[in-house]
Amino acid sequence: MSIEKLQSFLAPHYENFPKGRTIGAVVLRTTQSETIFRTEGTGEPMCRESVRAGVQNLESILRLVMTKRKQIAPERRRGREFLRSHELLYPAPKSHSPCSLNTNAPCEMCVDCFLYGFAAGGEGAQKSRVWTEDAFSVLPSSELIGDRTINAVFETGTMRDEEGKASTALNTSEYIKPGVHFLDIVTLKDVTADELRYALGNLLLTTRYGAVSSRVGRMENQILGVFGGITELPSSLELVQGIYDRLVAENVPLEHPFDTTTLIDATQPILNSWTNKRGISVKLSAEELEQLIDDIDRHWSMEERETFLKRLDASYQPYRKIKNASSQKGRKNQSEE
Ligand SMILES: [Zn+2]
Repeated sequence: MSIEKLQSFLAPHYENFPKGRTIGAVVLRTTQSETIFRTEGTGEPMCRESVRAGVQNLESILRLVMTKRKQIAPERRRGREFLRSHELLYPAPKSHSPCSLNTNAPCEMCVDCFLYGFAAGGEGAQKSRVWTEDAFSVLPSSELIGDRTINAVFETGTMRDEEGKASTALNTSEYIKPGVHFLDIVTLKDVTADELRYALGNLLLTTRYGAVSSRVGRMENQILGVFGGITELPSSLELVQGIYDRLVAENVPLEHPFDTTTLIDATQPILNSWTNKRGISVKLSAEELEQLIDDIDRHWSMEERETFLKRLDASYQPYRKIKNASSQKGRKNQSEE
């Protein structure tokens, strides 16, 4: 069984102190519709970064960037929807509202708070055990961005008002085209088997990212590889650079739309070489990865989801008591072992 193969890199139960057990997952994120990643408001340019094209190809190119925040916030919200529906979000201390992501009032007790961490105003904190990094596009951004001017539509449903005057352009908007590939590395530190199922389940079940509406932001996530060890995997930038070199060496045209299978085929030999890197011990085989994903799907299925989430929630119970006791003692620092 694939989860067993990862056993030595999983925590048997939640602990407050890190022990260096590291699971790394390589994620392919493919846009399925127009997608918009902007820092704030409209009219801002799409997030991109000037980086080396490859490890061997040293010219610099602009790549699209999907920032950490753009990845993790929707995935946490996805998991929290299910915690909420099973009443597993707790009231935040000193406020009667339930645990909330953006109001600086975490409950410090729910699965999300324990796994993804929180910073409560001055009163201790929990470090996140789900680490992400900026994900990069494989191709240069010039291939991947579309541009469109959005006009105001009048009540008549046309671009002209009653006097026949054309509407003014609201703004010019850049968008990421459908079919764009981002490669991403997600690191899970000292997680239990159920926490692994929870975090990867959130990732596989999240389908909307960035500026979200019913029309934009659709994305599909695929897990291409899972590793166990005592250190992080190479970065997502190193990975896209390695892929770029391979594609150039094989004379594959680097044009959008790019074939997903060709991309995955170019990725695999690089992932296979990573078990030679320092600190990386195990890579799940294709079959083991499939078993792991089946296992995650089963835990999130209609039949098993409630039992799974309640079991995960109950696993923190002994630590909630410690936390409550220590906060009564008046902020005795928990980092003293
Ligand atoms: Zn919480």
